[in-house]
Amino acid sequence: MTEDLPRHPEETGPPCHAEEIVSPRRAEDDDLLRHAEELDAGDPLADLRNQFLTAGNADVISYLDGNSLGRPLRATATRIDDFVREQWAGRLIRGWTDGWLDWPQRLGDRLGEVALGAAPGQTIVGDSTTVLLYKLARAAVDARPGRTTIVADTDNFPTDRYVLEGIAAERGLTLQWITTDPVSGITPEQVAEAVSPGTALVLFSHVAYRSGWLADVAAINEIAHDAGALTLWDLSHSVGSVPVRLDEWGVDLAAGCTYKYLNGGPGAPAFAYVRKDLQPTLRQPIQGWMGHRASFEMGPGHEPAAGIRAMLSGTPPILAMVPLDANLDMLQSAGIETVRHKSLQLTDYVLLLADRWLAPLGVEVAGPREAARRGGHVTLNRPGFEDLLAPLWDRGVIPDYRRPDGLRIGPAPLSTSFVEVHRGLGVLRDLLEKQA
Ligand SMILES: *Cc1c(COP(=O)(O)O)cnc(C)c1O
Repeated sequence: MTEDLPRHPEETGPPCHAEEIVSPRRAEDDDLLRHAEELDAGDPLADLRNQFLTAGNADVISYLDGNSLGRPLRATATRIDDFVREQWAGRLIRGWTDGWLDWPQRLGDRLGEVALGAAPGQTIVGDSTTVLLYKLARAAVDARPGRTTIVADTDNFPTDRYVLEGIAAERGLTLQWITTDPVSGITPEQVAEAVSPGTALVLFSHVAYRSGWLADVAAINEIAHDAGALTLWDLSHSVGSVPVRLDEWGVDLAAGCTYKYLNGGPGAPAFAYVRKDLQPTLRQPIQGWMGHRASFEMGPGHEPAAGIRAMLSGTPPILAMVPLDANLDMLQSAGIETVRHKSLQLTDYVLLLADRWLAPLGVEVAGPREAARRGGHVTLNRPGFEDLLAPLWDRGVIPDYRRPDGLRIGPAPLSTSFVEVHRGLGVLRDLLEKQA
């Protein structure tokens, strides 16, 4: 990268004084690189990067899309291979009674402990986030008969909005949209204005997928509860990156992905949380045999299982759950607070480079700067980013593009170094200069 920098005229001839040949820009770049190296040297999680599988992706010099698809662990490859050989081939159908049937709850409890601040018996793993959002939201509105609105925000992830549209149509409810500002996100004040005695449910993302805005979950829950509504939180962009305290915050329902910061792999199953005291009254709409009180009695009529298990529908995706244990082992040993600390340092560093290198080229930071309101990624805006995606990939730099002009920089704390961020944003700067 530095080879492409404009050279100081004196650099071509023999230098007289070493200090004079360094251009101011080169000196600043060196300072920024040194800063990254110092941060890496002081990073208690730095060694964990070696536990990720890098074979086969040596062309990637900077992976900045951990918020969309996390990297695989070496242990994941081994565990999948072991599972296929020993458990699948070895146990065959006996695997179900040996333990597979309990995996949705076992992994749910582990996830609850390591990442969600949820006591056992409230979290389950299975289905996709979309399907779980549907089940939870439908169960929630049915548990508030007579109430006619669902409150949500316009900037939430599309699937969340679409699912609610479907439920509103199905149940004859009205969707009440809060227009969110990408920088200020969803605020308690906006929620207070929107909810009423007619509100059945509110649904928001803990970390907004576009701007990275971090919502004040506890404050919003209190407002919704005062109005008698239930709350459903989408944790897809916070789980594994931002500490979550579901029990402490009084969350009713939550769902989220395990393939983003939890590195579960493409299409890895999602998780759902239902607060203990709500479980006896909620009825989810996809009444399958796995959520039945006694799946193998094969009896007439659906009788829901006790507790969180009633959230299951069909056969759980056991093979796709295999990576989760390895990822939770790593997250547990790292500690979510340490992960969050590094995540904030990483995004601070992204903001620093954005201000120094990219702002002069017309790039704006489209999200919160305040640490307390920031999730794990930073969104940069500039017309023309779409055209830069292919050249960035060609040079081994992989950020995330969101229409129309957003580039999301999502450095996963467990697998990303500060020098990697320096490298990636340096390439982005070079490309922007060529485009200008
Ligand atoms: C990634 C993401 C999803 C994805 O849902 P799938 O069912 O896994 O496709 C949903 N909601 C939010 C907020 C997300 O960030």
